[in-house]
Amino acid sequence: MRIRSVGVFPVVMRKTDPTWRFALGASPQSDGFLIRLVTDGQHEGIGYTTAVPHLDAPASRVLEDLRCLSRALAGASVPDVAELDLLPGCHQAKAGIDIALHDLAARERGVPLHRVLGAKVRDEVPLLRILALKAPEQVARIAAGLVAEGYRYLKIKLDGDLETDVARVRAVREAVGPSVHLTVDANQSYAAEGAIRAGERMQKDGIELFEQPVRIDDVDGLAAVSRALEVPVEADESAQSPDDIRRLIDRGAVDSVSLKLPKLGGLAKAKAAAEQCAAAGVRCRVGATVGSRLVAAAGLHFAAVTPNISYACELAEFARLQDDPAEGLEPERGVLRVPEGVGLGVRLRETQAVAT
Ligand SMILES: [Mg+2]
Repeated sequence: MRIRSVGVFPVVMRKTDPTWRFALGASPQSDGFLIRLVTDGQHEGIGYTTAVPHLDAPASRVLEDLRCLSRALAGASVPDVAELDLLPGCHQAKAGIDIALHDLAARERGVPLHRVLGAKVRDEVPLLRILALKAPEQVARIAAGLVAEGYRYLKIKLDGDLETDVARVRAVREAVGPSVHLTVDANQSYAAEGAIRAGERMQKDGIELFEQPVRIDDVDGLAAVSRALEVPVEADESAQSPDDIRRLIDRGAVDSVSLKLPKLGGLAKAKAAAEQCAAAGVRCRVGATVGSRLVAAAGLHFAAVTPNISYACELAEFARLQDDPAEGLEPERGVLRVPEGVGLGVRLRETQAVAT
């Protein structure tokens, strides 16, 4: 079977809160790409990936890489996902193609995507929602709204201003009460010493994870924070590949790893990363990809078959975006059910053009 055509469709999704920001940037929109593979047997696979400017993957680069991959794939035999490594392109572009190839394989067999990935170990996944950088009282108000919608896990974005960060956590804890699970993500905004001081104070408000406290390349700092704090420390930006994860594990630098499909290069790479974590006794979970329900569904199928996902996953950030090209996936009381339709199990909206 050969790939007859590869369509790449830029997708701009507006944020309902255009002032949403985190320590590494702010944008009123999410830039993503819908990928449609069609085979000579008229089978189809849909994928999606996003630009990630703070990981050196702006929309222009991802689009250029997707075009490059499209030229390499058009007319070729359908590749095994492992062969994607041999082709040019950044992780984000390869992730979009990898998801489309998995969707294609599932649709050919007439099964949900999770059946292609492995044995399902859960039917639903608890969701963690992310709170943008704002003044403490604003963050607390938004947190209370999400809890009223049924979410039980919240992540507070930090910016390295220790007193304000501690105040953000305090304000959210006071607003949501003791039973809601809280985590924090500094997006590299601390040096190790400051992260330890901030973490010691935030632990008193019951945070359960401290994500990416220090710079992406500061493995020694990450290890020092992990050693000093009781709260588990999680790598996100520092863990962009199985090699990165191996280095972090070997150095004892992390307790947990955030797995994201675009960051790692797709489902096959995420699966390998999860297996590395399991072998090393390090926790993992699915981190946020701010984009369409298409990429959230792919993450959900992955979480469904990954036994060592040990904490709530960030799979509902689409809820704060408009203009999704897909529909058919909605959180209910803070969880997402694993789709049982064929392939990704979400539908393209009729208004989404996918002709090539
Ligand atoms: Mg993060």
